[in-house]
Amino acid sequence: MVAPVDRGMGADQLDSLVAVLDLVRFQTARTRPELVQRSGLGRTVVTQRLAQLTSSGLVAEGALGPSTGGRAPRELRFRAEAAVVLVAELGATSISVGLTDLAGQLVMQREEQWDIAVGPEPTLSRVAELFDRMLAAQPDTPPWGIGVGVPGPVEFASGRPAAPPIMPGWDGYPIRDRFAARFNVPVWVDNEVNTMALGEYRAGLGRGADDLIHVKIGTGIGAGLISGGRLHRGTQGCAGDIGHIALVSELIETGPGATQQMCRCGKFGCLEALASGSALARDATAAAEAGRSPALARCLAEAGSLTATDVVHAAEFGDPVAVELLQRAGRLVGETLAALVSFFNPSMVLLGGGVGMSGDLLLATIRQAIYRRSLPLATRDLRIARSQLGDRAGLMGAGFMVVDELFSRALLGRWLYQGTPVGQPTLAAG
Ligand SMILES: [Zn+2]
Repeated sequence: MVAPVDRGMGADQLDSLVAVLDLVRFQTARTRPELVQRSGLGRTVVTQRLAQLTSSGLVAEGALGPSTGGRAPRELRFRAEAAVVLVAELGATSISVGLTDLAGQLVMQREEQWDIAVGPEPTLSRVAELFDRMLAAQPDTPPWGIGVGVPGPVEFASGRPAAPPIMPGWDGYPIRDRFAARFNVPVWVDNEVNTMALGEYRAGLGRGADDLIHVKIGTGIGAGLISGGRLHRGTQGCAGDIGHIALVSELIETGPGATQQMCRCGKFGCLEALASGSALARDATAAAEAGRSPALARCLAEAGSLTATDVVHAAEFGDPVAVELLQRAGRLVGETLAALVSFFNPSMVLLGGGVGMSGDLLLATIRQAIYRRSLPLATRDLRIARSQLGDRAGLMGAGFMVVDELFSRALLGRWLYQGTPVGQPTLAAG
């Protein structure tokens, strides 16, 4: 049990408390002398804040650290095991559910096939059931919060999806309120491309890349942005929604024929309508039915339908139509990214999602298009790679989102006095 801290913390006290906690939490300072040095706070203030954090159970003083002459200081440790965070990532065709500790490490994970288009009620009931099972396996550790990623735009302040093209029936659905009422903890909901970007930035290949674009190419296409070391959500929460950027150059070069596919958003010429996993499946089916690819036609006859994965496999076996489809998708994604690279000047572009993680052909084509269309200075030190965490990125990012909010300056002082955020579901509402 975590002991309460005094209520009525002043602004200075809160600032120094968050500073000391962050230094220990991110292992930037491992001893009291290091804390004093790194925080710039006085020795007395550091001692007082540490006393608060140790009595609240968030920090423990452990073994003796290395001596620098004189008495060896004790090592400070963030107690990541003090509570857990429930996390879920809803995809277009699957749901992943997990449990992280307070340092964002995944303790448990489970994935199952699911069609998001069945709507919010059955989907969230299933997620709640899976949450219950995970909590039953960890009966002594309380959940302090819930983080959910969904495959569409979310108004972050309210935790509601906003006209998500691949989530019929979810527009404006109060995901946060539903889980907050059921589990009695604060809940944060975000577009899964944002949680993925956060996961990669904090625990994957993106560590240290303070300006980062993480692109997800799956059923749809979207991107999460880390800018100056922070997730950039934009005014409403839809920054990075690149799937619906219109491909004007494609329209000019190939005429209206190439862009006549209507996007799920209702418009024409969107990147997502031409280069996503569902676009690949659609174009591969048309090629198979027209007799242009015997390999894809065989696949279609056997399975009854084609997926983007079939296209990737056929391309690996050298099927010219599949190669052409992937190269076209890569070129269109790459050209869109080139514009973003010029605008945003990131040090890293990461590709994730089922299609984004597939084979070298797509990565090579995307790289080529970005380099061809960008200024040399913007690409001089630019790294373009596949996601390292894969299907764990979104879940881990959802965990980081929750702990970062709980330990933020805006919220820490509102719950630490009672020792736990449990019972304060409205914390997430800001
Ligand atoms: Zn669109």
